[in-house]
Amino acid sequence: MTEDWENGGFGIYIHWPFCTAKCPYCDFNSHVRSNINQKQWLKAYLNEIKRVSEKTSNRILNSVFFGGGTPSLIEPSIIGDVLNEIQKHWKTKNNFEVTLEANPGSVDAKNFKAYKEAGVNRTSMGIQSLNTKDLKALGRTHTVEEALAAFEIARQNFKAVSFDLIYARQNQNISQWEKELSLALSLEASHMSLYQLTIEQGTAFGDRYNRGLLKGLPNDDTSADMYDLTLSLCEDRGLVSYEVSNYAHQGYESIHNLIYWRYGDYIGIGPGAHGRITIDGKKYATETVLSPEAWLKKVECDGSGESNSVVLTDQQQAAEFVMMGLRLKEGINYQRFKNLSGSTFSKTKLNFLKDLNLIKEKDGYIATTNSGRKVLNSVLTELLN
Ligand code: SF4
Repeated sequence: MTEDWENGGFGIYIHWPFCTAKCPYCDFNSHVRSNINQKQWLKAYLNEIKRVSEKTSNRILNSVFFGGGTPSLIEPSIIGDVLNEIQKHWKTKNNFEVTLEANPGSVDAKNFKAYKEAGVNRTSMGIQSLNTKDLKALGRTHTVEEALAAFEIARQNFKAVSFDLIYARQNQNISQWEKELSLALSLEASHMSLYQLTIEQGTAFGDRYNRGLLKGLPNDDTSADMYDLTLSLCEDRGLVSYEVSNYAHQGYESIHNLIYWRYGDYIGIGPGAHGRITIDGKKYATETVLSPEAWLKKVECDGSGESNSVVLTDQQQAAEFVMMGLRLKEGINYQRFKNLSGSTFSKTKLNFLKDLNLIKEKDGYIATTNSGRKVLNSVLTELLN
């Protein structure tokens, strides 16, 4: 019998928790350290790969994603050793995707060829802005020129190259964003992740915001207009808005991220990495120790970096499936929702959201419209409560 996760696929996420500097808006599990023993990290990654393979090695792997932090600080030989170990334990799909997040600085770009030789076939570059002043304000250490040069080197080496930009930044108006996005689109990347700046508590920007010192942020209406503009400029260039913040030419969607959004199974390796893994018909939510040093120590002493593993109820799985799937333009398979939850959505709620043009139903799928994805949290609240 097909298990539910097989509808979404199977991937491995590997977290590298270090960066050369901490960006003021960043709430990822990333840290600045002067001395990192990469051999020690390799050993811990290999131990974790062996441990998690024991109950899942009969599967075929769709993807591996090196995220961070800044995984382009990892030596290419270590990436190669990790990928070799993974391929000892799992068979891989023909279109097996291996993504490495990279900083667009010249130092990282020098390693792109070696990463390719190690088995990486896709990179996701944190360019974030094509405006020098704003890059500084975002705490980024690269320049626009370095980013453009690194993008060219990436394109020469990898089959697929994506880059991230952040918009709705301080003092940014809609025509400035239009100009910047048009320049970005002229680079003809096959995939782009375009995020609105969000101010997270516990970050330097969060502290400044709380003290009233983070001035010039666009209001909600301007941010919504920027979202609409982003969607229309991207779609004019043939980049489909396949997820709330992700745009791709057909066939270049992120295989790994689709596993999350299609509610497949994924293993999380490294500090603070989360996983969802189905074993003997039960779906587990797993977590690992957050602090890099504590994770390393736990793997070395206990033979496992895992800090928590709980079985998700059918209702929890159904809710997660909806929360992830409605981020996608393709939406969710309604029968899959019924199988997971043992129930249906209220007809009144579905009709209410359809009348507002926030969702649509077609060929057994329920999907958000472009307007619905813009107010996704409200759609989810209506459907799930
Ligand atoms: S480079 Fe990325 S992960 Fe590192 S601090 Fe900046 S935003 Fe966070």
